Amino acid sequence: MIKRRLVVFTDLDGTLLDHTTYQWLPAKPALDALWSAQVPVILNSSKTRSEIQALREDLGNTDPYITENGAAVVIPEGYFDNEEQQVVTFARPREVVLEILAALREKGFPFRSFEEMTVAELASATGLDEAAAIKAKARDATEPLLWKGNDAALAEFRRALAIHQLQLVEGGRFFHAMGFFDKAGAMLYLMEQYRERSPGVDVVSIALGDSPNDARMLEQADIPVVIKGVNSDSLVLSGGRKAMRSDKAGPAGWNDCVLQILADFSG
Ligand SMILES: [Mg+2]
Repeated sequence: MIKRRLVVFTDLDGTLLDHTTYQWLPAKPALDALWSAQVPVILNSSKTRSEIQALREDLGNTDPYITENGAAVVIPEGYFDNEEQQVVTFARPREVVLEILAALREKGFPFRSFEEMTVAELASATGLDEAAAIKAKARDATEPLLWKGNDAALAEFRRALAIHQLQLVEGGRFFHAMGFFDKAGAMLYLMEQYRERSPGVDVVSIALGDSPNDARMLEQADIPVVIKGVNSDSLVLSGGRKAMRSDKAGPAGWNDCVLQILADFSG
């Protein structure tokens, strides 16, 4: 029998974390089961490095993680025989994104970006406390923004960004101005690392998400899971591919689906 090994890749907001309260406790039974089965849980989010670091500590997670929609993969010291923490980047620096956004604002495109928001304003837009909002503003490569115009102007804005090799990706709350990288590319990079180190083992990826910015990650995963949420109806996989869909929203749905997959996998 071929040995199989699971690796979980998960979005955070609205998926492992409740959309409103950012709670993850309802997912604890499944997280504990994954921990016992030594299944890595890779946090793969639009969140920044410092936000994800804080959450990893809270979760007791020691696996690699993916920041800012796939901008970078962070591999902890010693994880893959790497002597120091390794950061693999797939993006141009944030300064480049901000310069392009500033030029587009001069042309009259109506939006408000994280950079312009005060900490208090960001806290109220997201429901984060101020300490968390400071971590959200500490970005490496992508810029979330609120769109203030109509759909026609939005389409024009997307075209203007594309000229500068930027795209606009829709998350649960914000649009993210970013280069042409995504959560899937970073996931595939890490899967390659696991496969190289597991000869003769079938390494199987599970990806969980709730928004269109998770679509590519789910499409590239062996087992895609859509978690019910505010945008999950518009998360449709290409090629008519079916995903497991949770009945419950956020971490409670995450818990049910992961326990289900683990039961199927061992049975
Ligand atoms: Mg999400």
